[in-house]
Amino acid sequence: MPASSKPHPKPTKKSPRAIIIGGGPAGLTAAYELLERSDISPTVFEAGDNVGGISRTFHYKGNHIDLGGHRFFSKSDRVMDWWLKILPIHSGEATLFPDTPVEITYQNQSRKVDPATTRTDDSENCMLVRSRVSRILFRGKLFDYPLSFNFTTISNLGFFNTALAGLSYIRARLFPLRPEKTLEQFVINRFGRYLYGSFFRDYTHKVWGVPCTEIPADWGAQRIKGVSISGLLKHALKKMVAGIDSSYAQKSTETSLIERFLYPKYGPGHMWERVSEIIREKGGEVEINKSVVAVETAGNRIIAVQVADDSGETTRIEAEWFFSTMPIKDLIAGMTPSPPSNVREVADGLPYRDFLTVGLLLDHLSLRGGISADQLKEKLPDNWIYIQEPDVEVGRLQVFNNWSPYLVSDPGAIWIGLEYFLNETDKMWNDADKDIIAFAIGEMEKLGFLVPQDVRDGVVIRQKKAYPAYFGSYKQIGEVQAYLSGFENFFALGRNGQHRYNNQDHSMLTAMIAIDNILAGNADKENVWNVNAEEDYHEEK
Ligand SMILES: Cc1cc2nc3c(=O)[nH]c(=O)nc-3n(C[C@H](O)[C@H](O)[C@H](O)COP(=O)(O)OP(=O)(O)OC[C@H]3O[C@@H](n4cnc5c(N)ncnc54)[C@H](O)[C@@H]3O)c2cc1C
Repeated sequence: MPASSKPHPKPTKKSPRAIIIGGGPAGLTAAYELLERSDISPTVFEAGDNVGGISRTFHYKGNHIDLGGHRFFSKSDRVMDWWLKILPIHSGEATLFPDTPVEITYQNQSRKVDPATTRTDDSENCMLVRSRVSRILFRGKLFDYPLSFNFTTISNLGFFNTALAGLSYIRARLFPLRPEKTLEQFVINRFGRYLYGSFFRDYTHKVWGVPCTEIPADWGAQRIKGVSISGLLKHALKKMVAGIDSSYAQKSTETSLIERFLYPKYGPGHMWERVSEIIREKGGEVEINKSVVAVETAGNRIIAVQVADDSGETTRIEAEWFFSTMPIKDLIAGMTPSPPSNVREVADGLPYRDFLTVGLLLDHLSLRGGISADQLKEKLPDNWIYIQEPDVEVGRLQVFNNWSPYLVSDPGAIWIGLEYFLNETDKMWNDADKDIIAFAIGEMEKLGFLVPQDVRDGVVIRQKKAYPAYFGSYKQIGEVQAYLSGFENFFALGRNGQHRYNNQDHSMLTAMIAIDNILAGNADKENVWNVNAEEDYHEEK
């Protein structure tokens, strides 16, 4: 035990105690489920200064930032019901909260979410139903995302390039690249070399910092399985026949094609801040600014954690159950006694990608002859825009007003987020905030989106380990899973907790299933690791 460590007071209750590392969606779901369904008393330790993890809302001078833009959509009834139980839909404002039933279809089931039945009188703690619009900026033009075969695409590309794209697709289908080892080969075989070079290669390099030739093909199989040219064609036809308003999400529809999603009034963190309040009301503990720095094991059990506060003072806390959503790499590094060397090597070799958002508060956008906040709906309805232009570093642009107008404190202002995919060792990551803001303004000016005089304010938010990456030692992750599964009173949950490209719903399901197992006396961890291993949809393609 470190010199400054002191024993933590034992819980006064007789009930067994659970320590939950991390106050993101997985950790908070675990705490909530324990309180609802068991006599186990949870304490959540969150290293940051607020709950929500990557799904938190960042608050800045009355404005709110959603890191990455979080759609609330799940193919799991269990998750959809859970979300709507915490934040029901309010039907008070017809324009934002539709008062007619919305059809939601997922996991081969269709049902209507009726604001009349999931209604709340609380107009603050509620969900909005939002339409999704996202496009791709390429060669100065806005293309539909996902790319669709419509007039806009053909006129943006021009007839010659459209024909080229078609021919290169036919060629790729007739003469696929074999063996298919890299992501480049995977995508070319499915979309053709022209579309790969125009819409995939540079953007993917930006996101992961690694060229597609160095990413294994099974990464593509995991993340873009199910999306194909024929699927996009079918979708385009379906849209023409049915009209987009007929469905919220169709059961056969890939996630990227979903047209509407639920969204908490004040962003995703609103959900997790509310859940954390409920946990406290029910007698659980959520402690922020508390970092788990060491995990003690004995035989096949975890026995205690060391928790550091802001001042660096650590406290040793024992418990009967342990759940971790912290990155596997940090968990294994902090385990005592030290895990076997193969496990340490694999965990240490797991790569991540970090994520930086620059929030800019604007009077206007200069695009399309000038856009004010009240013209966004008509002139720029996008939630986000993928920036495929090779001469700027920015990867995506979020328009927060279009996610929820309540994210902006002044309804006359436009509140945007510029997203950069980086490594924490990169120069930009370590630059001063004011320089990063100036750089981001310069990039937006270059793209013709704004003039610097229209920028009222700016802020920088850094999110480490936003993306667990599937390269490095990832292929051997089974060795770490097997080691961690050997601890009978421990569950590895969530996104970085499992090093899996999990969305909120997947992260929540890992927690729900872990609690199911405890209640059923099921020692097997297989079903927890299997969440999203076989799923066929992901947040972003
Ligand atoms: C750009 C982007 C867009 C996304 N879009 C969507 C979307 O549209 N829909 C969707 O559902 N999901 C989306 N996601 C995924 C979503 O953000 C994650 O699935 C979700 O936040 C994972 O929850 P989690 O609890 O597993 O992990 P996290 O959110 O990472 O939470 C883990 C928590 O553990 C804490 N922690 C770490 N180490 C320690 C420690 N040593 N001690 C104490 N606490 C610690 C962290 O501070 C963090 O709060 C997106 C993600 C990104 C990056």
